Amino acid sequence: MGSAVERIEIGSPFMTRQAEAIGAEPARARIIVRGIVQGVGFRPFIYRLANDHELKGWVLNSTEGVVMEVEGHTERLEEFIANITLKAPPLAVIEKVESSLLPPVGYQSFIIQASQEREDKFVLISPDICICPDCLRELFDPLDRRYRYPFINCTNCGPRFTIIKDIPYDRPKTTMAVFQMCPSCEEEYHNPSDRRFHAQPNACPTCGPRVWLVNGEAAGDSAAEDAEAVTTVRYLLSRGAIVAVKGLGGFHLACDATNSAAISLLRERKCRVNKPFAIMSLDCQTVERYCYVSDAEKQLLELPQRPIVLLRRRANSPISASVAPNNSHLGVMLPYTPLHYLLLERKTDEPDTLALVMTSGNMSEEPIAIGNEEALERLGTLADAFLLHDRDIHVRCDDTVTRVFEGNEAVIRRSRSYAPFPVRLNFEMRQVLACGAELKNSFCVTKENYAFLSQHIGDMENVETLSSFESGIEHFKRLFRVSPEVIAYDLHPEYLATKYADRLKREEAKGSSTEVQFVPVQHHHAHIASCMAENGVQEPVIGVAFDGTGYGEDGQIWGGEFVVCDFQHFERRAHLKYVVLPGGEAAIRKPYRMAVSHLYNLPSALTSGLALFDRINPLELEIIRRQIERRINSPLTSSCGRLFDAVSSLLGICDVITFEGEAAIGLEMLADESVEDVYHWPLARGKFPIAINQEPILGDIIRDLEAGVPIAVISAKFHNAVAEMISGVCCLIRERDGLSKVALSGGVFQNIYLLKRTLSHLRRKGFMSYIHHQVPCNDGGIALGQAVIANAKVTIPEFKRSLYVLSSTS
Ligand SMILES: [Zn+2]
Ligand SMILES: [Zn+2]
Repeated sequence: MGSAVERIEIGSPFMTRQAEAIGAEPARARIIVRGIVQGVGFRPFIYRLANDHELKGWVLNSTEGVVMEVEGHTERLEEFIANITLKAPPLAVIEKVESSLLPPVGYQSFIIQASQEREDKFVLISPDICICPDCLRELFDPLDRRYRYPFINCTNCGPRFTIIKDIPYDRPKTTMAVFQMCPSCEEEYHNPSDRRFHAQPNACPTCGPRVWLVNGEAAGDSAAEDAEAVTTVRYLLSRGAIVAVKGLGGFHLACDATNSAAISLLRERKCRVNKPFAIMSLDCQTVERYCYVSDAEKQLLELPQRPIVLLRRRANSPISASVAPNNSHLGVMLPYTPLHYLLLERKTDEPDTLALVMTSGNMSEEPIAIGNEEALERLGTLADAFLLHDRDIHVRCDDTVTRVFEGNEAVIRRSRSYAPFPVRLNFEMRQVLACGAELKNSFCVTKENYAFLSQHIGDMENVETLSSFESGIEHFKRLFRVSPEVIAYDLHPEYLATKYADRLKREEAKGSSTEVQFVPVQHHHAHIASCMAENGVQEPVIGVAFDGTGYGEDGQIWGGEFVVCDFQHFERRAHLKYVVLPGGEAAIRKPYRMAVSHLYNLPSALTSGLALFDRINPLELEIIRRQIERRINSPLTSSCGRLFDAVSSLLGICDVITFEGEAAIGLEMLADESVEDVYHWPLARGKFPIAINQEPILGDIIRDLEAGVPIAVISAKFHNAVAEMISGVCCLIRERDGLSKVALSGGVFQNIYLLKRTLSHLRRKGFMSYIHHQVPCNDGGIALGQAVIANAKVTIPEFKRSLYVLSSTS
């Protein structure tokens, strides 16, 4: 499983050689441990380990990792160093152990020293981790002093990234700084044998954060506090209310997932027509009552990161159909904060909660609310009540969305508890800032061989999201001590992220030094490079980038692209034939416009009396025709996403979308998996780049429609055709360029039906295929590709390039 918590074992052969040279005399070792070693109970672990081995010295947190000096017999020192990796605490991720041997200085004890800062060094920061089994046991133990305390945590669990203002990770640099520990907490915090030793968010009901309930109407007045607030919220939810609940990375809007009326009300208030809501259930057993859960999916659900996992729903499940309309899957997560457990707890005298809708606390596509005042103001019209608390959220983090594909994890939205765990690259990077794309934005900063991809920022379509983006970048630069030498951005001149880069460029030009290099990156090149980077591929590949919208080098809207590329260069080898995007944005929102555009040159479409044309207002149809003919406000597009939209509308599945990808998802959900039949896509060897003509396929679809073939069969045949076409075009490119590695990227490959079929075709044709796992294939993963491309462009001298023969005749 591509989990964020993995351990990398690193031996210490250096130590052995040094020890032999010095002999079994007392010695002193200076050791630096790098990785996720702060906020995971690492220093107390070292303290105990040193005592176990009868070693003296000290340990401290520094901005470069955990640093220690340990003195004693060389054999014990060796054992000690080996055990650092062997016995490390469960949440630690050790990247490197560096040790050097020094003459002894006669330490008398082992102590934990105060943290040390160095401006240029950085550490990996632990993401937020769900409540651990020990804390969970205490939470429901009536004799424990933290019985039912919603902020219970220890060195193995609790908030991290979302409360950290700066490094090193110490309480004064978190939003816990305002809480003065009581004597009991203080004692735990300073006791090396306690499991809360140096647990920075340590708290109890006496000294720590508290929850309280505020009614939606009488904002400001506390209606109930502490346990009573939780009890009231449980009651309100059971009665169909919508409650805003402050969580780890922001607010959720919660309601009963079996109550269709409550969900309809939530949809109405949130202006969210059809987009699926995520739900939360107490445990896997409960989830299995309404979804199918494989072993791999169970493993994902139970990860300490607690992502939302997409699961196939059972027929006739008690979960309201309006949680995810027209979708065979549900996004499900298990509780991750103590408060979630209190809300979902089973009680003998109350009916069980099967599942709660837990959707981001925001209006439509604005950023998720994190502050109490902010929530009361922005969510005032959405929630009937607010469950607030006074532990501030410093970093906004939506929930991560993931799923299992062919037994492995494939992340769809990489956010809470995944960020800021870095993607490890197999080469060193300059310090790069990559600004990302427009939709599902996330940015990326790089240092050494790490790419720190930000949490999900959102669709950059309003000032709130832009400001969240800008403050996020400043925070990442500070946390990871990055001052970008290179800034990468999308070619699209209208993206807010591009305009942000433009602004930096102008500011840079005004200053005296112009050391920062600005590198524009083509959207689909970035998609493929992102897939290559996370798979450790550096040599040239055939890239298949299928998505909705990406600005092309010719100024048109690309999205059905076959490229040949490495990090530095790319060349377009094939693409879907251009069609008009009638009315620009309007055609994206209204798939029927795309259907008209795709059918425009097809005589059979006009004579066949398609239902599609009956559904379109004749006046608008006339306008669309004119837009296509005269190209008024209508760019050309080779988008594959738009082709799926067109087919979806042609089949009467979805004419108007209410969220990105809706029409294509509808088309995928209906596809009959047992169908092996396929529409044949005529592919001819010709001049590169090949323009792949989709008209024959659409003609076949119309013939099937007329013949009364079921839509589920037509959808399947269409999917099969796209998969077969992909492998066919890849074969043509292999003949030309001699490349047999294929990287698949772009939002279209979230379509599991298509991805499975495509991979099986490619395998059969002898290709080695790469897909995304750690990073989303949609625009949420673009920033990683931008970063590695910009790095390659400024780093590798032009003459060193060892690319495919660019000049060969095509
Ligand atoms: Zn714990
Ligand atoms: Zn306390």
